[in-house]
Amino acid sequence: MKITFILPAIGKKTGEKYIKTWKKMEPLVISTLKSITPEEIETEFYDDRLELINFDTKTDLVMISVEMYTSRRAYIIAEKFRSKNIKVMMGGYHATLMPEEVLEYADSILLGNAESVWNDVINDLKSNSLKKRYDGEFSFGRYIPDRSIFKGKKYSPIGLVETGRGCIFKCEFCSITACYSGKYHKRNIKDITEDIKLSGKKYFFFVDDNIVADQRYAIELLKAIEPLKIRWSAQGSLTMAKNDELLSLMQKSGCDVILIGYESVNRKNLVQMKKDWSLSLGERDELTERIHSYGINIYATFVFGFDYDDDDTFNETLQFAFRHNFFFAAFNHLLPFPGTELHERLIKENRLIKDKWWLDEDYSYGDIPFIPKNMTAEELSKKCAAARREFFTYSSIIKRGLKLFSRKVDLMLWLIFLTQNVNLKKEVDGKLRLPLGSGLDENPK
Ligand code: SF4
Repeated sequence: MKITFILPAIGKKTGEKYIKTWKKMEPLVISTLKSITPEEIETEFYDDRLELINFDTKTDLVMISVEMYTSRRAYIIAEKFRSKNIKVMMGGYHATLMPEEVLEYADSILLGNAESVWNDVINDLKSNSLKKRYDGEFSFGRYIPDRSIFKGKKYSPIGLVETGRGCIFKCEFCSITACYSGKYHKRNIKDITEDIKLSGKKYFFFVDDNIVADQRYAIELLKAIEPLKIRWSAQGSLTMAKNDELLSLMQKSGCDVILIGYESVNRKNLVQMKKDWSLSLGERDELTERIHSYGINIYATFVFGFDYDDDDTFNETLQFAFRHNFFFAAFNHLLPFPGTELHERLIKENRLIKDKWWLDEDYSYGDIPFIPKNMTAEELSKKCAAARREFFTYSSIIKRGLKLFSRKVDLMLWLIFLTQNVNLKKEVDGKLRLPLGSGLDENPK
């Protein structure tokens, strides 16, 4: 018996290589699935971002991990296999949030996380009685990802490790909260340290949605990983700035960069998106400086397109980003992800330009699928791109790079800063207008 795992790409511009910075990370979901698949079952994996999928492969089940951005391409891939009478199962965030839609394109779907139901899937597959739907639990099973499935594929040397799932907050636009309903699930700390040791890597990205969601747990975790002498980055919330013990342990355990979603400099926007809890923490400049004072660099992310955004918001956001010389920054446009409160609200307000925009063949990366309040959709898209271009000018990269020395970065981290900022600069225009689901038959190498 054989299972074929597939990770779809977003899409590809005709005649162009896949977006360089997007193709590098090992997909953790695939090594997790591999680790919970019994040894007697043959497995193979196609990473659509790096290689051509062999649609003639002899297999008993194709398992596709689907996200909103990759859904259109996933459905095209599924159709090709199903036309050969090969069963297709889909899982991932998009399947969890949009089960009825995904089931239109698959024989079976797996909602939530796979660990708790994968054995049932395997047994049903063996007895040719695959169910239409499996509901996995959101909490952690005991597993160590099996990275042997990545053999021969060229990925970044950064190891991806899970330490927690979900987030305690309920921001209106966030698909994490739509999936996890404001709950945070912790992973067994012994499993995490084992995972780190077995990976053979030195640099890690903890893929948690908010690594400081439970600060007591985070402190225990950081104490456990400190002796491992690794270096790491992760995503977290501004709440960390209020806890000196946590910041100190982050620094001692090897935290180089933490991604923080600032989202907006406008208070009314923060209230509307239900992120006003971040206002109660105190003054944002001060909180940011406190994190920097521990030598921890920040990847700041901002979102434009909220109802109180106007020209001033773009300027104020850029000033804030320049003032703090962020390691990286992202200036994204608001997107009504399916399953989120924001998506529901925009439907009610009759402001979605296209209903299932993620399936629209005319939708390209960077397009705004809703009607913003104080500007047109085209203006919003252009202003976001302009903010990115302004932040990633060479003079900005050099100025921010020089500032890093006051945060005591070493040469390796400085080189990472330089190369990745240049990559992000190239990516600004590389990503724009990428049609979702396109270019499936072209070699993405
Ligand atoms: S803090 Fe971040 S991860 Fe948590 S709900 Fe808000 S946007 Fe989502």
